[in-house]
Amino acid sequence: MVQEDLMSWQRFYLREKIPDEPWMENFSVDPQLIKDYFQRFLYQPKDREYPDLCQLPELNEQTLLDNLRARFAAGYIYTYVGSILIALNPFKFYPIYNPKYVKLYQNKRIGSSLPPHIFAVADAAYHCMLRERTNQCIVISGESGSGKTESTNFLLHHLTALSQKGSHGSGVEQTILSAGPVLEAFGNAKTAHNNNSSRFGKFIQVNYKENGMVHGAVVQKYLLEKSRICSQGRNERNYHVFYYLLAGASEQEKEQLHLLSVDKYNYLSRTGCSEVPGVDEQYEFSRLKQSMEMKSMDYRTEWICNVEFQPQRKSYHHDEAVGVRNPEVVSLISSLLRVKQETLLAALTMPEAIATRDAMAKCLYGALFDWIVMQVNHAFEQLCINYANEHLQYYFNQHVFKYEQEEYRREGIRWTDIGFSDNTGCLQLIEGKPGGLLCVLDDQCNFPWATNDTLLQKFNSVHEENPFYEKPQRREPAFVATAMREKNLDLMRQDIVSVLKNSSLAFVRELVGVDPVAVFRWAIRILRVPRSWQKAPRVTSRRRLARPRASIHAPNDSLLVQLATVSSINLAINRIATPHRTPAKSREAPCRTNNDSKRADMPASARPGAKGTKNYRIAETRTRRVERERDERTFDDTDVMQRASQIVMKYKSFRPRERAKKGLKNLQSVKTLAGRTAAPAGKRKQPLTVAAQFQHSLAALMETLNQANPFFIRCIKSNSDKVPNVFDEETVQRQLRYTGMLETVRIRQAGYNVRLTYEEFIQLYRILLPKGLLSSQNDVRHFLATLNLDRDNYQLVIGITIPCFVSQRQWLVARHEAAT
Ligand code: ATP
Ligand code: MG
Repeated sequence: MVQEDLMSWQRFYLREKIPDEPWMENFSVDPQLIKDYFQRFLYQPKDREYPDLCQLPELNEQTLLDNLRARFAAGYIYTYVGSILIALNPFKFYPIYNPKYVKLYQNKRIGSSLPPHIFAVADAAYHCMLRERTNQCIVISGESGSGKTESTNFLLHHLTALSQKGSHGSGVEQTILSAGPVLEAFGNAKTAHNNNSSRFGKFIQVNYKENGMVHGAVVQKYLLEKSRICSQGRNERNYHVFYYLLAGASEQEKEQLHLLSVDKYNYLSRTGCSEVPGVDEQYEFSRLKQSMEMKSMDYRTEWICNVEFQPQRKSYHHDEAVGVRNPEVVSLISSLLRVKQETLLAALTMPEAIATRDAMAKCLYGALFDWIVMQVNHAFEQLCINYANEHLQYYFNQHVFKYEQEEYRREGIRWTDIGFSDNTGCLQLIEGKPGGLLCVLDDQCNFPWATNDTLLQKFNSVHEENPFYEKPQRREPAFVATAMREKNLDLMRQDIVSVLKNSSLAFVRELVGVDPVAVFRWAIRILRVPRSWQKAPRVTSRRRLARPRASIHAPNDSLLVQLATVSSINLAINRIATPHRTPAKSREAPCRTNNDSKRADMPASARPGAKGTKNYRIAETRTRRVERERDERTFDDTDVMQRASQIVMKYKSFRPRERAKKGLKNLQSVKTLAGRTAAPAGKRKQPLTVAAQFQHSLAALMETLNQANPFFIRCIKSNSDKVPNVFDEETVQRQLRYTGMLETVRIRQAGYNVRLTYEEFIQLYRILLPKGLLSSQNDVRHFLATLNLDRDNYQLVIGITIPCFVSQRQWLVARHEAAT
């Protein structure tokens, strides 16, 4: 069977006729062609486009680009580089994601005879997890509009479909998928680069049971762009949800919630851009409602909160001076938020009224978004996007270049090192101690007399010589976004918080305050301890949170193999100045450090005990006491949540024995740790700055990723105008360059990424091998020698040092995934 024939078969079946059974089953081997077959996968034919860039007979920037272009024109948007997937966004959906494709790619090796596909990556990760019983992660990167969110959705789609295995799913799958539309409505917006741009990063963790069924999912968000609430760039919009609500609410709802048309809201109409081409907002609203119902969220509660901002926006939209011109709207807001009118008025007529109004809107939306994420899964994370992207690039480099070459050296493989663009220097610039940008930023935030100018001077003086740092021109502070210090300190403003905390509406109070009881319950849910324990004495203070009366071991089956997907955003556009990789015109690179305050509450409805009962009264008294204590303490909720979520993440990713070793063997240790490390803000010298918070979170994320086996998806935008089927050479080239694609192909091409033990080799090729001949290493060696293959394309390794993660193995290594 010759390769070309295979290819045309493949096309025929995929395009014209998708069989019920994968076509491979019809394939029978002609022994005459054994040699041919080996030749074909080791010697690549010329003059055609290749589904794996490693097969390119001649490798340079142009052939790489030409190959991608030819494939794109033929309707193939996916291309492999070994096991790395390049996904070219065509801005047009091909019918290649339906259930037939899910089935087609099930249980297929990456690089098997089927064309590259994102489902194949999902499948590979899933089966690797089942086979090896280790965590897998899929890292998706690319610039804004390159297709990360869509790719994530396809992955989740396949991953959840896989676990259903013919029977009807448990419903968990649907619940997981319905999280997407909710998060996108509240966290995505139209930007200049993408009509559905995610303004937050996310880390999705899909947990599986031992038998391969989906058990649940956890979404962690990092960094929501809160400034978008109050101001948007040209041609950009506020978050989708506002427009959906205004377009989709019924007349009755509009009246009840005092909704007006879009143009009446300053925050929604200032940019003059209120519509997105091709989006039916009414339909989106109904879809959102449906998804929220799937997640058991009460969307009416949501509405009240959405509305909070809107009349408020209108109320001050021409109010540039101190003082409120339209008190009637204040009365409306105060009734919606259920706070005393006088208190609100006082807060809003203080000096800096406009800033207060904006801060309040941002604070409420930030809190609302956190609340939503928590409803989806009760967990939070927070990262600075640039910094996170550099870390993800670093992670990629480590796996694709560093570890790989180190291993060749260890194994004694003949090898010449391949260079790559190392971003350690860039990371050092950001996080290094004591002079790194984050350190300097934090220092300056602690000096009362420091200003943004002194901060900039300090950056310049410390990093003048650093090749990764570009000194901003005087007039254009390109790197140091204005008000960087303020953003770093942008914790929830206490004046606003205290107004909102006094709301008589539990939901509003929940948005702005943290209840230790809620944190505790949250931890219970995450760890899924037995029901009986949940009835243990309720915790009413931080002290008890730290030292619970009851202690029980979390059941072992709550430790599940996880499969994580990281979707990082804005890789190119937000890269912090990396001169050798980012072309000058896209190096706007502001270091975005908006703060996200975190909420950790559970909805009030979660509290047990019906009204009027003794339990209810006791609970009420306790709640009041907790609230009083909380107010007195100026509680730093972000810390408790962050701690708890980090610890829980850690806990879940360890095997039982590891957990025991790390002192995380049961829920008590988690609680103790969370309680111990989360000291009241008042008792600390300084509240955690945004920079410090995301450094924390990033470290936790990287720790999780480091324990997992990685798969990479590189999303690439085919053109900047978002037009279907246009391959713009320059746009693609730029992205290939800064992701180091050429070097990636080079190492994958020259590298030996197929590693088989002799036994595995014999097992795998039994059908192609001379009968009975192959039973020892020597047999294999002789057989391969008779085939006269290029010795550079495979190496036989016998009896040299063994890498620690492969137990006592002797290897036969061969080039290209296709070999298998
Ligand atoms: P951001 O960083 O701004 O969030 P992103 O990388 O998440 O960007 P997406 O929102 O996933 O980008 O994709 C942008 C648009 O490109 C989508 O709205 C969709 O129209 C199109 N698109 C992305 N991937 C595909 C695909 N595989 N097939 C067809 N169209 C796609
Ligand atoms: Mg996105």
